[in-house]
Amino acid sequence: MALIVQKYGGSSVSDAEAMKRVARRIVDTRNAGHNVVVVVSAMGDSTDDLLDLAAELTDNPPEREMDMLLSAGERISMSLLAMTINAMGVPAVSYTGAQAGIMTDAHFGRAHITGMVPERVARSIRSGQVAIVAGFQGVSSDDDVTTLGRGGSDTTAVALAAALHADVCEIYTDVDGLFTADPRIVPNARRIHRISQEETLELASHGAKILHLRAVEFARRYKVPIHVRSSFSSKDGTWISNSPANPELQGLVPESALATTQEDNVEAPIISGIAHDRSQDKITVVGIADTPGMAARLFEIITAAGANIDMIVQNVPTSGTGRANITFTLPSSDADKTMEAIKAAKEELDYSDLWYNADIGILSLIGAGMRTNPGVSAKLFGALSEAGVNIDLISTSEIRISVVTKLADLDKAVRAVHSAFGLDATESEAVVYGGTGR
Ligand code: ASP
Ligand code: MG
Repeated sequence: MALIVQKYGGSSVSDAEAMKRVARRIVDTRNAGHNVVVVVSAMGDSTDDLLDLAAELTDNPPEREMDMLLSAGERISMSLLAMTINAMGVPAVSYTGAQAGIMTDAHFGRAHITGMVPERVARSIRSGQVAIVAGFQGVSSDDDVTTLGRGGSDTTAVALAAALHADVCEIYTDVDGLFTADPRIVPNARRIHRISQEETLELASHGAKILHLRAVEFARRYKVPIHVRSSFSSKDGTWISNSPANPELQGLVPESALATTQEDNVEAPIISGIAHDRSQDKITVVGIADTPGMAARLFEIITAAGANIDMIVQNVPTSGTGRANITFTLPSSDADKTMEAIKAAKEELDYSDLWYNADIGILSLIGAGMRTNPGVSAKLFGALSEAGVNIDLISTSEIRISVVTKLADLDKAVRAVHSAFGLDATESEAVVYGGTGR
């Protein structure tokens, strides 16, 4: 008998029919002899609908009330799901985040989990009930309802799986798992069978809309194996795991998911996948003094403006001038305030010019095999040049190479690199069953 946490996204419970299909799957898992804890998102687009409703009433709602409002979406889906399961003859009880012991800080709309005391959930398991927990919400030390940020139900699920020492956390969505690239850009992208948590973190943090980033961080820290799969099919999805899974999983984890290292898995590809990001802009500070402390001062100003910087490149244009250029990328949503802050500090920073470019895209090639396989960057740059794509900036980590291109070149670049690294499937594998991609 295993303990399985199953998370169902909004597209999996979008209406009564979908709700019944999910309930059936939960009941079947239980009837196969497992304990099941369920985390559920709000039905379909209902979180967006609640946001729209609030926007019709005020431009400036109190953050506390927004969280109270948004948490209601998950209350609806969890209670309806519990009813449906009960109607199938299996006892099920729903819990809000607070009831499930999900403690958070008080940052409304983007709260972080600070502690997990899922007492009532554990009691439900012991008494044979299916526990259904509301996704993406918790409670602050002041007893206020908080939410974890959009898409945060993934994080609820992995945190619960960690706290309950579950054998696996299944994330149900409307696609069959993670793909080597976004199937909307690369129609013959392949499903990834198994991927490490590090690679998943790199993919998720470089634009792949696969899982809530913090869910992957939790999974890595607490060694929770994740299985991303579709609730619309019974196909095996993508296994995200670094360590061997519990041998008592009795066939729940396929052999391929048990390999611990790249070497164990002879067939593991060098490259796991390609992420792309259209949501970043680029800023260049031209002719800043090339003296110790200037970069530090510039980034203090940027940090104080609240911007999240990604790539940073400094170059010294001509020797002898004592002046350098510093270029960085950041989320478009942080661009205005960052430009304002740098302009306001013009005198102190003493730069000659400030350039802003929103017309960029970032392609990231990710694979743990890069550590041991030389020549990946040469192949990447070769593929881009053959496709006529100019590379603007480059940044790397141990298992990732990212390049900035013109926005208009991004899709072409992703396709060229995907095929250069032999990732193309012979036939199309990606099916989106629902519509929201969650
Ligand atoms: N319902 C929330 C959202 O739409 C949380 C989630 O789905 O994970 O963002
Ligand atoms: Mg959702």
